[in-house]
Amino acid sequence: MITILGSTGTIGINALSIISKTQKKNSVFALTANRNDKLLFSQIKKYLPLYAVLGDENEATKLSKLCSKHNLRTKILNGSEGLIFVSNHSRVKTVLSAIVGAAALKPTFAAVESGKKILLANKESLIMSGPLMIKAAKKSGAMILPVDSEHNAILQIITTMGLDFNNIQNSKRNGKLNKITLTASGGPFLNFTKNQLSKVTPSQAIKHPKWKMGKKISVDSASMMNKGLEIIEAAILFNLKPSQIDILIHPQSIVHALVSFTDGSVISHMSNHDMRVAISYALSWPKRYDINLDELKLSSVSNLTFKKVRKNEFKCLDLCLKALKLGNNAPTVLNAANEVAVEKFLENKIKFIDIPVIIEHALNNMRSTNNDTLKKILACDQLTRDQVSEYIRIKWK
Ligand code: NDP
Repeated sequence: MITILGSTGTIGINALSIISKTQKKNSVFALTANRNDKLLFSQIKKYLPLYAVLGDENEATKLSKLCSKHNLRTKILNGSEGLIFVSNHSRVKTVLSAIVGAAALKPTFAAVESGKKILLANKESLIMSGPLMIKAAKKSGAMILPVDSEHNAILQIITTMGLDFNNIQNSKRNGKLNKITLTASGGPFLNFTKNQLSKVTPSQAIKHPKWKMGKKISVDSASMMNKGLEIIEAAILFNLKPSQIDILIHPQSIVHALVSFTDGSVISHMSNHDMRVAISYALSWPKRYDINLDELKLSSVSNLTFKKVRKNEFKCLDLCLKALKLGNNAPTVLNAANEVAVEKFLENKIKFIDIPVIIEHALNNMRSTNNDTLKKILACDQLTRDQVSEYIRIKWK
């Protein structure tokens, strides 16, 4: 059975559309939302999960009453404990981690520790916990399969080649792998001047030219933070050195990733920009579903362009590379600072161009510690959030 953490989000909704086409009835163990009780209720009616989780206790009680009124047997839980319960339950085989941000860390980690197959959309949890999550997966036998389209593209390439995707670097059959390349659409503000960037609004930032995504990841894409987070994600997930991960700006979003070999061969993955392709592959891995998603018609794509990213071109991207280099708890600090900054930008409290200023301040003022327990990671996340909120309160009053 499958648990979908964040079923009311963009990824969750797409995942349910694939599940309707591919899974037997009653295959959904749990669905979860934070606040969107209306959509969660309609998903409960359609997928009849054994459990559903809402963020707030009172809202959960109301939803529970509504389910009883409609003779629905779904049990309603709430909060972080509810999320953990539906992530490590013995009847659950697969967990799709599609909650946005750090709130996914505890349930995703619980799924990892209990040896589930994890379909990882929420990159933040991996970035926060890094090697600790990989170590826990090795111990429990959990599989972490990426849903992020670029990492999923790498998964598709290396699975097809018979390599060990959790450790391409050390795979015995690898020998000749040189590097991987992740593509970036460049987001809605590609080629904007600094002056133009200083005036962009939240509603402009969340309108991605190619992908339909939640607000936070849309802002991350606009600032290129998302691509930086993806470099960290790839380094951890595939056990690669930062020097083995390249970025190319590819505004058409058709080629999602490339793997280069020392013999001059480059193998790429292409598809329409439709997250259902990546979700479907993660669900069916190592096989493929026969589900008739739209075929990519290259003849109707007028051109495919690729541009190298210049150093100092995207501040957020550089800060991610800095955090990756610093190691220890730096990625946790980076992630927390970004989440707070994005939230404040969406609330119109700061400008878009203030986001990297805030992250840089957090990285420059952090105390480096080991990220060797979940407790330490959560404490570092909370401390950074408190410090960054205070910094913003004073500087942008
Ligand atoms: P959305 O904002 O669309 O959805 C987020 C989901 O998480 C919703 O179900 C939301 O519930 C739930 N949620 C939000 N906050 C909390 C919380 N504090 N506790 C519990 N649940 C919460 O996000 P996306 O679907 O776009 O993205 C989800 C994750 O997938 C992100 O980590 C993102 O980086 C990653 N991702 C997304 C891609 C995309 O194309 N969208 C591509 C690649 C990765 P509610 O609806 O009630 O608010």
